[in-house]
Amino acid sequence: MISKDEIDDTLRGYNLDRLEICTLGTHTALQIAKGARDEGFRNLLLCTEKGAGFYGRLPVVDDIIEINSYSDILLDGIQDELIDRNVILIPHGSFVEYVGSKNITERLRVPMLGNRLVLEWESNRKMERRWFEEANLRVPREFKAPDEIDRLVMVKFPGARGGAGYFLAKSVDEFHKKLKEVDLPEHIKKEYTIQEYVIGTRFYPHFFYSPLNDELELLGMDIRYESNVDGLVRIPNIIQKEIKEGPSYVITGNIPVVLRESLLPDLMEIGRNLVEGSKRLFKPGVIGPFCVEMICTPELEFVCFEISGRIVAGTNLFIRGSTYSDILYNEPMSCGRRICREIRIARERNKLEEIIY
Ligand code: ATP
Repeated sequence: MISKDEIDDTLRGYNLDRLEICTLGTHTALQIAKGARDEGFRNLLLCTEKGAGFYGRLPVVDDIIEINSYSDILLDGIQDELIDRNVILIPHGSFVEYVGSKNITERLRVPMLGNRLVLEWESNRKMERRWFEEANLRVPREFKAPDEIDRLVMVKFPGARGGAGYFLAKSVDEFHKKLKEVDLPEHIKKEYTIQEYVIGTRFYPHFFYSPLNDELELLGMDIRYESNVDGLVRIPNIIQKEIKEGPSYVITGNIPVVLRESLLPDLMEIGRNLVEGSKRLFKPGVIGPFCVEMICTPELEFVCFEISGRIVAGTNLFIRGSTYSDILYNEPMSCGRRICREIRIARERNKLEEIIY
């Protein structure tokens, strides 16, 4: 495992006037690149051939290193080059998916924004649930065995797969039938989680926790646009019944949403509890952006089912800021820019080691 001391040593060798903000050229790379520019840093994207053609044409991108696959970031030659360039990496969803949280904690020597331990907590369903429990939050009921199913459940598989393969079942028979049909490798199929299906409205708030100020900010909120569940609801019920295919939850886009204002204090309390819980579970806890996927019930209670401990793709809606970031900042403040601002402030206060691991 790469120790925090090793990263601090690397940071001490950096020329802080020449920091470069770097991420993989996908997911939220555009707002990170723009955020870096807006905060006075140079940016650098690691792109595959296809990505290089796209990002390389955009004026907001300063520089590109072309790699064959995203996991090439682990190659010693690439890591040495990034360290030579005084790079601070920004992890995003595809970064974690393609490089792997284990590789990030065990092999990636390049300084990165945030506490890299969070990446393991957010990508492991059991650990994520433990974090929710530590924060005293309501979570969907989980069923240990299929024969316990007594209500509508959602069956999930591991990995940030954008809902790939998830299915709904109301009984043990339906569960076994659909599990057999699902198009996933056998070893993944075995690792199912059976979760109560919570009926309500979804909210995915984008939080940012600044350890420098001990402040929790709400920067935006979205819901995911999912195929084909969001397509199916446009078909009248009588025709729906003739369709054999069940709903799938593969994310295809994001939609902005605001929360009923009277619920905002409860939402902020949830965010705060998660920050405090994370400090107890994996010191120094979550740093910077995180997002909770939750459902609001008719009783106006929030049920939390997923957490991401890094920038999420839904923040792409708000490259020029959101309703919420506008309340806090009198200028366009995307999540990518907020990340770079934190790095800038930490550099000014000589506290980079408090936000980088
Ligand atoms: P990602 O890692 O990309 O966030 P994922 O594969 O972990 O995706 P989830 O976010 O857990 O998938 O779930 C996908 C979608 O399924 C959610 O956006 C939501 O629409 C729905 N969903 C998940 N869990 C529940 C639940 N317990 N009750 C109702 N709907 C749910």
